[in-house]
Amino acid sequence: MNTFDLAPQTVDMRIIKNLLGRFSLFSGATASNTIATMALLILFSISPGYSCTEDPSVKLTDLKTPDGLDVCIEPFSAIDATVTIDLKMENLVSSAGNDFTCDLHNYRQRNLPYGLTHLHVIDPTRGYKYHYDFHYRIGNLNGHPDTNYVYELPYQKGEHHRINQGYFGAFSHQIGSDTEYALDFDMPVGTVVCAAREGICVAARTDSTNGGPDPAFKICANHVEIRHADGTYAEYVHLRTNGAIVHVGDVVKVGQPIAYSGNTGFSQGPHMHFAVYIPRDGIKVQSMPTKFHTDFGISNGLQQGQVY
Ligand SMILES: [Zn+2]
Repeated sequence: MNTFDLAPQTVDMRIIKNLLGRFSLFSGATASNTIATMALLILFSISPGYSCTEDPSVKLTDLKTPDGLDVCIEPFSAIDATVTIDLKMENLVSSAGNDFTCDLHNYRQRNLPYGLTHLHVIDPTRGYKYHYDFHYRIGNLNGHPDTNYVYELPYQKGEHHRINQGYFGAFSHQIGSDTEYALDFDMPVGTVVCAAREGICVAARTDSTNGGPDPAFKICANHVEIRHADGTYAEYVHLRTNGAIVHVGDVVKVGQPIAYSGNTGFSQGPHMHFAVYIPRDGIKVQSMPTKFHTDFGISNGLQQGQVY
């Protein structure tokens, strides 16, 4: 029986891409301006000189109702997401509580926009305020990983690529990174990336044009995420701008071309980051080791520095 180690859950550097939570001070009109201003302030504070933008895979929106407002997820967001929200309010009460996690598996099949919580005005004769931060991860919480599944190498047959960074790699796969069991395949920009396992495309970000060897670039990574039958998710990261071949909702066969590699996000050079994970909540995920079919037989873990 194959097992995998659960890495200690320490400081999570990857959530920086999700730190641009929503801030709202609602007094009648200009919440969106406040949001934009806050986002810009945060961007410049973490990435001076860079032009990174927030990952648009999941967006929340606020809709006024006769007795308050609904906090909703926007229709163009990823299919599967787990969102953790921390609310602070005055003269409002939240139907879902002040601090909660929503598991949004296949939420697109529900009526949209999909409400996460209703904020009810307690005293209509007074004004009200609210502020929330949200964090999200692609995927839902009910995975039952098949640790014996054997993956295909995520590129076209006949190609060979070197593992530039393996499990627990010092650059960005270290303990606490949430990507302890990730693999970085060295490949030139524009290399065809193929699905290592069949599944459904649940997120595809390809609008970013930026990358570099600084954690501030984490929010700039283009990526495609595929949900597998056992509830695990594969992430294919650092894709080139407009580099997705598949779209959210597409059924993907193993070996099918899904994207073109690139160098966006937190990256030292052109490569493709691959990891399989299950979410823990809207902030943390658990990555897991993956077996692969290789020219040398089934590998229990691809080794840094080796070519496959
Ligand atoms: Zn990586």
